Amino acid sequence: MKENGILVVVSGFAGAGKGTLMKKLLSGHDNYALSVSATSRSPRPGEQEGISYFYKTKEEFEGMIERDELLEHACYVGNYYGTPKKFVCDQLKAGKDVVLEIEIQGAMQIKKKFPEALLLFVMPPSAEILRNRLVGRGTETAEVIARRMKRASEESEGIEKYDFIVINDDADKCTDIMHNIIQSAKYMPLRQKEFIDKVRKELKEL
Ligand code: 5GP
Repeated sequence: MKENGILVVVSGFAGAGKGTLMKKLLSGHDNYALSVSATSRSPRPGEQEGISYFYKTKEEFEGMIERDELLEHACYVGNYYGTPKKFVCDQLKAGKDVVLEIEIQGAMQIKKKFPEALLLFVMPPSAEILRNRLVGRGTETAEVIARRMKRASEESEGIEKYDFIVINDDADKCTDIMHNIIQSAKYMPLRQKEFIDKVRKELKEL
């Protein structure tokens, strides 16, 4: 039976630890490809062009929207973020499991365009742990942290639209759980239409 690649959306509040989970998921297994987003926000210390994000001006980003180069895009805390189309389509065709680490508005656009996409939401064990992680990063001003906590509260209202939540209390354990969910989800009937149809046809012919 052919194993198709799966499109996986991973969302979660800023500071929930998605970045660490993505690194662990990709370094532990070869079949994942992580999409690199375009953004109009400025690079944070340590981030790299083409690895963390493709950094664009607002005008450049709007050009990408006009040329239909993005699978989805959203405005988040005053900046544009979007998923370049070509990489995702090429990797899915090559049979890779493609992971998009994006926020909820983008996740809903993906769900509409690709009903077979799997949507995961990473949660911290508590709100206090979330705030401590954001403060501990030391890269954001108090005002930005406050805006991100408010945003987390708003985003928490949409969690039921996702297929699974993943609670990030221990990054290794959480990565294993994510991997297991993704690999199991491939065998849900909605993602095995071709195989099911093939066996149905065979059954009729026998
Ligand atoms: P940050 O500025 O902390 O890197 O990202 C802020 C938020 O934007 C995070 O929730 C992240 O998942 C989301 N994000 C990153 N790339 C994309 C994208 O391509 N599309 C959308 N919709 N959200 C994104």
